[in-house]
Amino acid sequence: MYEPVPGSKHQYTSVPQGADVSDQMIPPNTAHAPEESISGKWGWTPEKSKWRQQQLAKQRAKAGGSSYGTSVSSSATSRGAKTYYVGHVKVIGRKSWARKGPNLARANKMGRINKITVHHDGILMPKCSYSIAAKRMESIRGGHASSWADIGYHYCIDRDGRVWEGRPIDLQGAHVKKHNPNNVGVMVMGHFNKQSPSKQQLRALPQLLKALQGKYRISKKGVFTHQELMPTACPGKYLQRYMVGIRKNGMIV
Ligand SMILES: [Zn+2]
Repeated sequence: MYEPVPGSKHQYTSVPQGADVSDQMIPPNTAHAPEESISGKWGWTPEKSKWRQQQLAKQRAKAGGSSYGTSVSSSATSRGAKTYYVGHVKVIGRKSWARKGPNLARANKMGRINKITVHHDGILMPKCSYSIAAKRMESIRGGHASSWADIGYHYCIDRDGRVWEGRPIDLQGAHVKKHNPNNVGVMVMGHFNKQSPSKQQLRALPQLLKALQGKYRISKKGVFTHQELMPTACPGKYLQRYMVGIRKNGMIV
């Protein structure tokens, strides 16, 4: 989204395409160190992290692409799958749209998942097709990957209600400053201060939330919107209102 938040020091020019306010609130010269720090509070470095070394070795071993990217398939988890399921929700795997895998040298491993945060991307989306949404995913990934390990969100829902895999779930996301550990990022495409979520999105979103809640045993107390964790207009007033509603009316529990 692109409208300013009171009291913040936005640098619009530094915002990657597809970035929402969490990104805009980070000064460009400190670009996202809190999001993708490879040492800091984790107390590890690429050299020290056995996990990271293993991931990098795997990535190097796969000539022509990473296990998360477009050209290599793997039987493990969702990697390499064109589509897969989270519960009953069909997810379009990143093999279907991403030109590159994550930069594992900048990624942190996801810890035990205990929360979900809902976002919008703050870009108007009047119409949608599979190919438009795929291009948008790649555009967001490219923007985020210029500063971060990869697209910041784990799942994205397009205007027609398709669910797209973003950052692989075994990697920590970059979507809420200071609240990224253990947190699944779900982004709904659109600008929900200016447009309402579509019917398809309002069908897909609670289905995905419920599937993730079931998989990771998260109650509605662990389901947040971005603005509930930090000052931002994300996910826009219309989606915020909806999110407040579904936690009150029992649609998600
Ligand atoms: Zn957000």
